Amino acid sequence: MSDPGRCGCEVSVERGRLVVEPGGCGGALASVPGCRATAVHTLAGRDASAVVVRGEGRLGPRGVALLVAAGRFRSLLDGREPRLAALAGRDPLVAARKASSRGGWLSALAAESGLALAAEGVAGYGVLEPER
Ligand SMILES: [Zn+2]
Repeated sequence: MSDPGRCGCEVSVERGRLVVEPGGCGGALASVPGCRATAVHTLAGRDASAVVVRGEGRLGPRGVALLVAAGRFRSLLDGREPRLAALAGRDPLVAARKASSRGGWLSALAAESGLALAAEGVAGYGVLEPER
């Protein structure tokens, strides 16, 4: 429960919304990398128009865009670059920078998934703080 890398959140997609049921980790998408990874993993290959953290509120549009794009990026990687795929869950902003700076097909994938655009101008994970 005190391990910050672990995530015990229950996540589901209901009617196009990603719903996070916080576990002992708190469901803190803004501060716990494990919770981010859980959300992004769930969004890989799926789409959501909203992200709701039960009891906390819903994310703003930039936060939703970042998580959805990171999920799309992960699913487009399709097993290639497993470390970058994992990074896209825990730390999508860094993954976006890395993919873009590597050039070639990786930066094309970052653009195609929308991750490069979603990460542009986002300074930190405050965008993943739920709004009430
Ligand atoms: Zn969690």
